[in-house]
Amino acid sequence: MVDAAPPAPESAWEYAPAPESREIVSIAPGYGLFINGEFTPAADGKHFTTLNPATEEPLAEVAEAGERDVDRAVAAARTAFQRTWGPMPGTDRAKYLYRIARAIQERAREFAVLESLDNGKPIKESRDVDVPLAAAHFFYYAGWADKLEHAGFGPQPRPLGVAGQVIPWNFPLLMAAWKLAPALAAGNTCVLKPAETTPLTALLLAEVIQQAGLPPGTVNILTGDGATGQALVSHPGVDKIAFTGSTEVGKEILRAVAGTGRKLTLELGGKAANVVFDDAPLDQAVEGIVNGIFFNQGHVCCAGSRLLVQESVADMVLDRLKRRLGTLRLGDPLDKNTDIGAINSRQQLDKIEQLTAAGEAEGAQRWSPPCLLPTAGYWFPPTVFSGVSQSHRIAREEIFGPVLSVLTFRTPEEAVAKANNTPYGLSAGVWTDKGSRILWMTQRLRAGVVWANTYNRFDPASPFGGYRESGFGREGGRHGLAAYIDG
Ligand code: NDP
Repeated sequence: MVDAAPPAPESAWEYAPAPESREIVSIAPGYGLFINGEFTPAADGKHFTTLNPATEEPLAEVAEAGERDVDRAVAAARTAFQRTWGPMPGTDRAKYLYRIARAIQERAREFAVLESLDNGKPIKESRDVDVPLAAAHFFYYAGWADKLEHAGFGPQPRPLGVAGQVIPWNFPLLMAAWKLAPALAAGNTCVLKPAETTPLTALLLAEVIQQAGLPPGTVNILTGDGATGQALVSHPGVDKIAFTGSTEVGKEILRAVAGTGRKLTLELGGKAANVVFDDAPLDQAVEGIVNGIFFNQGHVCCAGSRLLVQESVADMVLDRLKRRLGTLRLGDPLDKNTDIGAINSRQQLDKIEQLTAAGEAEGAQRWSPPCLLPTAGYWFPPTVFSGVSQSHRIAREEIFGPVLSVLTFRTPEEAVAKANNTPYGLSAGVWTDKGSRILWMTQRLRAGVVWANTYNRFDPASPFGGYRESGFGREGGRHGLAAYIDG
């Protein structure tokens, strides 16, 4: 009898490096602001450095817009609204939006590599999620531009005017697309402020906008920090403000806009429950839990950061989850096999470290798979806390990192009560074999989006947005147009 071959040593199963080439991207040493169709330095000459968070290597110097630049950009947007883009027939606006969508597709690899360099997210996510969804958003809203009178807003829907749009760093290009596409389709002009740590893909999008030949001033892109955002949202020439970011800043903007009659939509934080019942397909649920919280290093407003698992299967789910987490690969964001990339900034890493330390201090059990962290850059291992109770900070506060808090429940009523025990209300997930239970749960969960037997699915035709401290207004779908139409 021949003995079975001994199991291969573990190292034989390691993936060979599969780095995506950086060659496709040429990063300029410096970038100006995009105002009235041209790149121009900041009026006071200020600029800041944007880093690669995986290595801390400086990537470029980027202009920092001040109040005078905000004035210039808003004036350019106003002129374009009155003279070119605003009066243009919807069929013509659609052509420009289709051009932008096609140019994003043509330059997809360039966008994906640049996004991973500036943000730290794995290339397979920027390549397969961020960039295709950004193009899909422009395609989708291009389709609406000449059909607005059939969108349910009356026979002659009118745009609002100049939109001031402020976006965060977690999906830099995709958030720019979410903001610009519906606003432009409806006939508004835009001034967009990307996040300080991730300005580069918005600036590449500015090049695409030039390439597509949009009338000057239709889209203006102002790089800068929180002060730039504040100057934009408080500018009296802005008719509509759209903000995605933290609840804290959202509340500040709400206070500043109150009583001015200007329109506002806020897409803020979340602390979503991902609820797993004992009859769920458990292997599939484990994949959904992993995708729910470890996608994009957990830098996702709708992340399933609280796992609520039925007590009878809790040990089994936790075992399988730990086994699966042991197979995730953390490291170089440009490696095509990487699952977990870098944390976007030192500041965000500090916040994650602070909150996870609080989790341990409050008595939850912390676990991470064995995982070597690179020495340079900002990194945090995938982390699971079990034994979490509802009063713990890690069960209440948005961590915005690769950290899962596990709680248990016995009955569906208890699951609903625990899931809704949060000031947020952006998203939730339900895993069960029974359709009737899915319907019962979705009617009771206070969340803008509820995924059933899946998680983190996005489509430009599907509205997205929250309740309570997660903000108000919807992005995506026909509903996303409403935010940019007068009436
Ligand atoms: P912020 O809310 O501070 O940033 C979002 C955007 O708003 C950025 O472009 C920012 O500029 C800008 N901004 C900052 N202050 C103001 C202001 N007073 N007025 C107008 N615009 C402003 O989020 P952070 O990046 O600081 O992240 C903090 C926390 O927020 C995270 O840990 C996470 O919990 C949460 N968050 C939630 C997001 C979500 O999608 N729900 C997205 C991002 C963060 P700048 O980048 O220059 O500061």
